[in-house]
Amino acid sequence: MQFPKERTFDVIVIGGGAAGLMACGRAAELGKSVLLLEKNGRVGEKLAITGGGRCNVTNAEFNQRELLSQYGKAEQFLYSPFSQFGVKETILFFEDREVPLVTQAGKRVFPKTEKAKDIVRTMDSYVRQSKVKVATGGAVTKIRKSGKYIHSVYVGSVEYQAQSYILATGGVSHPETGSTGDGFRWLKDMGHTVAKPTPGIVPLQVKESWVHSLAGTSLPNVRITFFNQEKNLVKKGTILCTHFGISGPLILNAAKAVGDLLYEGPVAAAIDLFPDTEVSILEKNLIALFDENKNKMFKNLIKEMLPPGTTDAILSVLAPILAEDTQANAITKEMRRKIAETLKAVPLTVTGLMGFDRAVVADGGVPLTEVDTKTMKSLLVDNLFIIGDLLDINRPSGGYSLQLCWTSGFVAGTNA
Ligand SMILES: Cc1cc2nc3c(=O)[nH]c(=O)nc-3n(C[C@H](O)[C@H](O)[C@H](O)COP(=O)(O)OP(=O)(O)OC[C@H]3O[C@@H](n4cnc5c(N)ncnc54)[C@H](O)[C@@H]3O)c2cc1C
Repeated sequence: MQFPKERTFDVIVIGGGAAGLMACGRAAELGKSVLLLEKNGRVGEKLAITGGGRCNVTNAEFNQRELLSQYGKAEQFLYSPFSQFGVKETILFFEDREVPLVTQAGKRVFPKTEKAKDIVRTMDSYVRQSKVKVATGGAVTKIRKSGKYIHSVYVGSVEYQAQSYILATGGVSHPETGSTGDGFRWLKDMGHTVAKPTPGIVPLQVKESWVHSLAGTSLPNVRITFFNQEKNLVKKGTILCTHFGISGPLILNAAKAVGDLLYEGPVAAAIDLFPDTEVSILEKNLIALFDENKNKMFKNLIKEMLPPGTTDAILSVLAPILAEDTQANAITKEMRRKIAETLKAVPLTVTGLMGFDRAVVADGGVPLTEVDTKTMKSLLVDNLFIIGDLLDINRPSGGYSLQLCWTSGFVAGTNA
């Protein structure tokens, strides 16, 4: 019996995230009949929350070597796909579709509107205008293999068939967006190695309640040192305080190394609120401040030196040294020294990494040694293409993840 025509396609893409949307739009643009199977009611759920709702679409590093060096061990595998669709092509792709972009600190590129929803809408129109058949609201439940080929896929009891299959079901971070690791399970069943995912770019949990009380407040231009008994790790930049600990690009990008320290034992940290001022100079500045304002209370004076909104929290850290209503002329030399030392090393206790529910990227997935990166085709299954977060590629935050999705999606869509 012939397989029903209405359920037969040239290409089936499973997963309508950044990578899957690019892949199916591209394949359809080249004239293929394409079916997109997405289990959520709409496409691009994770894309819509990227970059804090602003969507950091790529990183404007136009030096290919420099850009690819950010992907660690994967660098050597990525020259071919990035030469087919790299940063320049991504920028043109969106600008051609009337999404003006802006480049911000760290070469991070955002839509000018700073709305991730505009990127989702653009990808959705790209797919629909290319005449992709989009089937949302039904999860692929089974992949049927026959020898070295995928024979068909099932959404419940409904079977679909295609010549090529592009797997784009994402990793396991923020599972509420649909990325629940289905792809990893199928890939393992099909004989692929799947490196165990660990939360990658994640915020850190800290014990101190003064940090929690500052949720939403930034500590700009500080230095943080993480240390355990043997090693330390120093980072400088802006820290964002949260209800559970610390976050922001500086922390997210340090998380993996902090995770390694945690693996070896408890990790303490110290925040230097005045990284460009020696402790002796800071003490002199305090002397001058207290001398000029002898009758004022400490809490009103220290406020002038601290980042906006942080005074109460820092006063709680200094409470063992002096009461906040101590008058300047009652502050002893010993107290002054301790205040300066504490401001140069506010102590923290790192209790852990946040889990997948808060991870920006989870690593893990299929190693690039099992994929032909010229085409993104599996080296084990002849009509399967693997893209996006399913690939085991470490990268920092800064638009590098979505760029991988655009690149791998385009290349798979071209070759499927
Ligand atoms: C909070 C957050 C912020 C981020 N911000 C940025 C940023 O600003 N810039 C950046 O570069 N990267 C960012 N990232 C990383 C980036 O979002 C991911 O790398 C990227 O979205 C992965 O896309 P993907 O298409 O591989 O997978 P996903 O976006 O995870 O899409 C997979 C899709 O497959 C569907 N699916 C899963 N299983 C099935 C099934 N059985 N049947 C049918 N459909 C299925 C899911 O519902 C989902 O829609 C962020 C990540 C998070 C979590």
